[in-house]
Amino acid sequence: MIKERGLLIVLSGPSGVGKGTVRKELFSQPNTNYEYSISMTTRNPREGEIDGVDYFFKKREEFEALIEQGGLLEHAEFVGNYYGTPLAYVHETLDAGRDVFLEIEVQGAAQIRQKAPDALFIFLAPPSLTELKDRLVGRGTETVDVIAKRIATASEELEMMSLYDYVVENDEVTNACDRINAIIKAEHCRRERVEKRYLSMLKGE
Ligand code: 5GP
Repeated sequence: MIKERGLLIVLSGPSGVGKGTVRKELFSQPNTNYEYSISMTTRNPREGEIDGVDYFFKKREEFEALIEQGGLLEHAEFVGNYYGTPLAYVHETLDAGRDVFLEIEVQGAAQIRQKAPDALFIFLAPPSLTELKDRLVGRGTETVDVIAKRIATASEELEMMSLYDYVVENDEVTNACDRINAIIKAEHCRRERVEKRYLSMLKGE
């Protein structure tokens, strides 16, 4: 019998929309049955962040060497730092039939759209632009200069919504998580994803 490959799930959206919070909530649920791909970054760890848990924290030269070696599925420069998805982990996990969940910004999502068009693309949207700005300022983790850059970037990022399959409004974290889980469940029933298995059954494989 043909083993189905795992589903690559891409959660993306503007900075400050709450991707990290939604992702952490999803992974704190006992019934989560997809694997989180830990990203690499050159930014400094925030207070409480742990290397190998929140990110793999790398020096710029290390990150650039990985790009050269083709070790990243996608990468992007975001407000002065590199962020990227390690390729090997994603392939190994998908090949083992497990779903992989990425939480990344929009430039990286656009690269994956090119490389893996059968991935599932979910755009997390803010209830309003005012709310998005308030969240970026209220988070208190960045300097005024960095916040201003992130707000400017967020407006451009909102325009990228058209690249995605689904839009989930993050009005409440629990609501957003419910919608994401429903989308993933439905995606697993999509005819294109399951028909190979049935065709091989019909052939007696
Ligand atoms: P932060 O510095 O707030 O942790 O992340 C900044 C942005 O980078 C967020 O939008 C986050 O989703 C995104 N990001 C995190 N990991 C990756 C990655 O591997 N690739 C890309 N392209 N973006 C990422």
